Amino acid sequence: MHPNPDFLAQALPAVRDLAPYEPGKPIEELERELGIANIIKLASNESPLGPAPGVRRVLEAELDRLALYPDGSGHALKQALAGHLDVAPAQVTLGNGSNDLLNLVAQAFLAPGRNAVMSAHAFAIYALATRAVGAEARVAPALPADAAQPCGHDLAAMAERMDGNTAVVFIANPNNPTGTWIDRDALENFLGAVPPQVVVVLDEAYFEYVQQAGYPDGCRLLARYPNLLVTRTFSKAYGLAALRVGYAVSHPALADLLNRLRQPFNVNSLGLAAARAALADTDHLAAAVAINRAGLTQLSTGLAALGLPYIPSVGNFITFRVPDAADLNQRLLRSGIIVRPVAGYGLSESLRVSVGLPEHNARFLETLGRLLQS
Ligand SMILES: *Cc1c(COP(=O)(O)O)cnc(C)c1O
Repeated sequence: MHPNPDFLAQALPAVRDLAPYEPGKPIEELERELGIANIIKLASNESPLGPAPGVRRVLEAELDRLALYPDGSGHALKQALAGHLDVAPAQVTLGNGSNDLLNLVAQAFLAPGRNAVMSAHAFAIYALATRAVGAEARVAPALPADAAQPCGHDLAAMAERMDGNTAVVFIANPNNPTGTWIDRDALENFLGAVPPQVVVVLDEAYFEYVQQAGYPDGCRLLARYPNLLVTRTFSKAYGLAALRVGYAVSHPALADLLNRLRQPFNVNSLGLAAARAALADTDHLAAAVAINRAGLTQLSTGLAALGLPYIPSVGNFITFRVPDAADLNQRLLRSGIIVRPVAGYGLSESLRVSVGLPEHNARFLETLGRLLQS
């Protein structure tokens, strides 16, 4: 291959300078590399329970219609979501994962000369989506490690980083990879202070898991803050990460803007049907939340017993500190356990583990204990 093809110089500088997103290592990749079996992946905050049983049935029915384009308006899913969330269908925008919606907001509001404000240790896609369109990612320092929400978003610091060129603010509640959260009062104080022309993206990818008193439901704030856009996903608690379905809820005028930008068929028919079935099965969601709650306790108790400091999390993952994170990660991989290094999030002394089935959490803790001793 030509080492330096001519078009490279023509690529937009913002794109040339991007660092690609680093996903959790797929099980098949580790199998190929090490030739080992019995691998467990606790690296991408996937649901150990998988989707509701009814999802399989609707997917089978969809297989008869694979030659047809999906409903580009996502009518049935939007209606179901609007009913579920008590909002108007015109407030809902569907996305190919909620990641899609983060990109759409960046495309609609950001460009060279503008900036988006976000926290240190925040979800990586905010900076990626911002820089991809040539805008500046303004990263505010996070709360200190000994704060009530260790390494969590510092909303005051974020407000301070805003200026006349700020068009978007990204808030993850709770945040990944820290698992920290923001309460209603703090969030409303912030929203009340943000200039109304700045779009505030409130990423609630783990909303269904959070059970803390005082945790705000972003959808209930939309009436008072028209510049607010709430994103959620079927990838986490609903167990449908493979199908890529997320949604945003916002003022209809904001939904209308995103609707102009999105690909006409950005959510496929399998995803649309599966998401509706998943949404309808409230028992399955409750089971996923219960297993996660037990898993968080199992993991945090186990980490404490090993003397490893961790950030208390309300998501389905825990970030914990270890003596040599990169080395320990390699040794965990060789033991067939995939967790997530978070050096790219400015947490180079930590690893993030997702809540798995009880036996997977136990194997992770037992292996970790053994590796720390050897
Ligand atoms: C996983 C995650 C998402 C996006 O997931 P999708 O699969 O694209 O819906 C968004 N925000 C945060 C904070 C996440 O952890």
